Amino acid sequence: MRKFKNHNVPALVHPHPSELPDERKWKHSYRRPLTFLFMYRKRSFCDLPFFETVQEILSYYTCPSTCPAICCKIADIKMDENDLETLRQTPEYKDKADWIESCNEDEEHHYKICPPCPFLGSDRCSVYDSRPALCRMFPFNICNKPDVLLLFPCDMAAGIFKDYLEYSERILKQPVPATTIDAFKESHSSISTNLNAGLPIPMLLIKIHCLLPFKEYLGSGLSFQGNPKIPV
Ligand code: SF4
Ligand code: SF4
Repeated sequence: MRKFKNHNVPALVHPHPSELPDERKWKHSYRRPLTFLFMYRKRSFCDLPFFETVQEILSYYTCPSTCPAICCKIADIKMDENDLETLRQTPEYKDKADWIESCNEDEEHHYKICPPCPFLGSDRCSVYDSRPALCRMFPFNICNKPDVLLLFPCDMAAGIFKDYLEYSERILKQPVPATTIDAFKESHSSISTNLNAGLPIPMLLIKIHCLLPFKEYLGSGLSFQGNPKIPV
């Protein structure tokens, strides 16, 4: 059996109530990725040190056909020059170019698509292979904290979370607290209701340094990886 590093810290923590993202904070959490680029001295989201690890984790999961692409309808999508250049190569770009805003925030220049995304067609992305880096990371999200990512509690995240519970219990020998599990279940089950009512969507924080060992676990064959599964 392969050994996995025990980081001796709770890897998943439910945000303190003061950190619960309300509608405004949720958008704010998407407004901060430029801070990450600055912090890591990178020019592109794809160059962030955890980007490839997140991609590998997500490769074990798929979005259920029943999800109405919530992620493409709720928040601004920030883009860097690479994202825009990739989109420009798509046949869909010409008709949608006017939807892409050029903006300056945090003294950085970037681009932005406001929701609902114009590249969304019949609840499916029409530019899937050319979608922006932040879309490729979902349901993981960059926030304004340097050492964590947010996990938006959608159906795909439910599959990730279930595997993480198993990983934490079997490998790290650190079961995720019941309060965290209950909080995630509550957030996941009420996501549509809360979105419709404009209520907060509590998200989990996952430590960035825990992503790599979790990815190794998924690739080890020890996990029950696969399509989204609703937590317990
Ligand atoms: S990432 Fe989540 S919200 Fe987006 S389509 Fe997949 S399951 Fe739905
Ligand atoms: S580019 Fe595609 S994945 Fe990204 S928000 Fe638009 S429709 Fe969704």
